[in-house]
Amino acid sequence: MPKIPLMDYAGRPLLACLFVALLWLQWRFPLRRQHFSMMHRLVRNFVLSIPGFAIVRLAMLPIPIAMAIWAQEQGIGLLNWLHFPGWAAVIATFLMMDYAYWWWHYTMHMVPFFWRFHNVHHTDLDLDVTTAARFHFGEMIFSIGFLSLAVTVFGIGPIMLVVFFITFEAATLFHHSNWRLPIKVERILNLILVTPRMHGIHHSIVQRETNSNWGTIFCWWDKLHRTLRRDIPQDAVTIGVAAYRDEHELTLGKLFALPFRGQREWRLPSGEVPEREQQPAERLT
Ligand SMILES: [Zn+2]
Repeated sequence: MPKIPLMDYAGRPLLACLFVALLWLQWRFPLRRQHFSMMHRLVRNFVLSIPGFAIVRLAMLPIPIAMAIWAQEQGIGLLNWLHFPGWAAVIATFLMMDYAYWWWHYTMHMVPFFWRFHNVHHTDLDLDVTTAARFHFGEMIFSIGFLSLAVTVFGIGPIMLVVFFITFEAATLFHHSNWRLPIKVERILNLILVTPRMHGIHHSIVQRETNSNWGTIFCWWDKLHRTLRRDIPQDAVTIGVAAYRDEHELTLGKLFALPFRGQREWRLPSGEVPEREQQPAERLT
C-alpha cells in the first residue's frame, strides 16, 4: 500500500484524537437525550464503518490523489489554469470542494438509488460522533467517482486534496457529535460552520427537516439554496428514518443488506407520516 504521509502520520492521529475528545465532550455535555445504549451503537457503527475505512485508505484517497497528480502534470482543471497565489488556491479549494459535496449529499437524498445507501447512515436512532463513521461501503465506493471527477475538474493539487479531506472528516465528526456547545458560541460558529444543532435537524424523522442542512463544512450553501433550517429545538427532534424505527431491524447484517432490499415509504410503523406544525423561523435553539 503506497504511503500517504500527510494522512497516515498527521491526518489519522489528529482525527483519532478529535474523535476521542468529542466522545468525552458529548458524554460530559450532552445535547440531545440519548435513547439507546451508547456501547451498542458505538460497536455497531464501528463495525459498519470497517469496510468504509478500508475503502477510504485503499481507493477513495489514492485514486483521487492519482487523478490530482495527473491533472497537475497535464495542466487540466480550473486551478491548474488559473495559477492563483497559494492562499487564494487554498480558499478556492475549500469553497469549491465543500460546495461540490453539498450537491453530492443532496443527490444522496434525492436520487432513490443513492438514498438506499445513504439511508443506512440516517437509520441511526440516536445521533452522536459515532454516527459520523456509519456509512454503507456502497456509498463510499460511489463517492470515489464523484471525488475523482471534482478533483480533476477543479484542478485540486494532491496535497490540498489531503488537507481538505482531513478538514472535511474533522467537520463531519464535529457536526455529528452530541456535544452541547453554549448556545452563544454555537450561534457564532454557525455564521460560518455546520454545527451539531444544525446537523441534528438533518437527522430528524420529519422528512421536510431531513431535506435541509445538507452542508458539511460551511453553512453558506444551505443559505444560498434556502435549505438552511435552524428553527427546531433539539428536544423536539426525533432522530432517525420514520419507517426504520425498530432496533431489531437495524442489526449489522440487516444494515449491510438494507440498500439491496425494498425501500419503505417515509411513514412511521403506524402508517402515520411524521409532521410538525410550522414554526416561526428563528435562530438555533
Ligand atoms: Zn444526509
